[in-house]
Amino acid sequence: MNAAKKEAAEQMENTDLVIEVLDARLPEASCNPLVEELRKFRQRPCLKILNKIDLADPQATAAWKAFYDAQDGVTAYPMTTKKPGDVARIPDICQSLAPHRGVPTKPLRIMIMGIPNVGKSTLMNALLKKRVAKVGDEPAVTKTQQKLYLGKHMVLVDTPGMLWPKIAMASDGLMLAASHAVGSNALIEEEVAEFLGNLLLERYPQLLTARYGFRTEGLDGIAVIEQVAARRGFRMRGGDFDYEKAAHVLLHDYRTGALGRISLETPETRAAALTQHAAE
Ligand code: GDP
Repeated sequence: MNAAKKEAAEQMENTDLVIEVLDARLPEASCNPLVEELRKFRQRPCLKILNKIDLADPQATAAWKAFYDAQDGVTAYPMTTKKPGDVARIPDICQSLAPHRGVPTKPLRIMIMGIPNVGKSTLMNALLKKRVAKVGDEPAVTKTQQKLYLGKHMVLVDTPGMLWPKIAMASDGLMLAASHAVGSNALIEEEVAEFLGNLLLERYPQLLTARYGFRTEGLDGIAVIEQVAARRGFRMRGGDFDYEKAAHVLLHDYRTGALGRISLETPETRAAALTQHAAE
């Protein structure tokens, strides 16, 4: 057992409820299987927060909620840290999931887990209504250990060391890179933008047309980047399209929500990807 896993296993023992923060746009790609492994072993209930629903496709989010709610000991809560009302409901939900705790002699001990950049620090700040953790749009900002009181009889236990996503398939890495700006290498950005372009063509072609004004029939991911460059007038000195700049703009428009509310996976696409992956 590695050090981070051992630490998490120990802390799970002194935890009554696990809050796992996921990115609603890519919940399975943004999870770390260790959370489920450890909390199931200790039979702890889990509140899966599908965060950033302001950026996600509402239909996909509803499907994910049903998907997680059907799992043993799991309750899904789609929300955004941008809405104080969404955050304010969390303590009551936690209390309902662990009714045997939350009294002076037995405080409700909550562990917040999740991979970098899903919004844990923002959530903790909002829950505690003060700045306690550094928030940033770069992965790996949440480094420090914390112990914080959520309410009179509700405590956040120390979060274990960094949890990284388990990249089960190449598409997981691409989805994470598209959503979370993991590194900023131009070559990688173009590959990620091509992946995103293909996904958008398949699932949200109308959003591409609405944003950039080009028709999507017959295009592939590279052609999407080229069309963005053409429409925005991104050209190099010699007149060639500036793919790098166009890739950057496409990713930026997705990440900020300027393209619309987009989910990169649904329970159906996930199941299909896993089947295909198993057959390879
Ligand atoms: P952590 O690494 O899991 O602690 O994630 P952070 O709290 O640092 O958040 C990562 C980025 O996501 C920051 O830029 C936040 O502002 C942003 N973020 C967090 N929650 C939301 C949300 O509900 N909606 C949107 N659009 N952005 C969010």
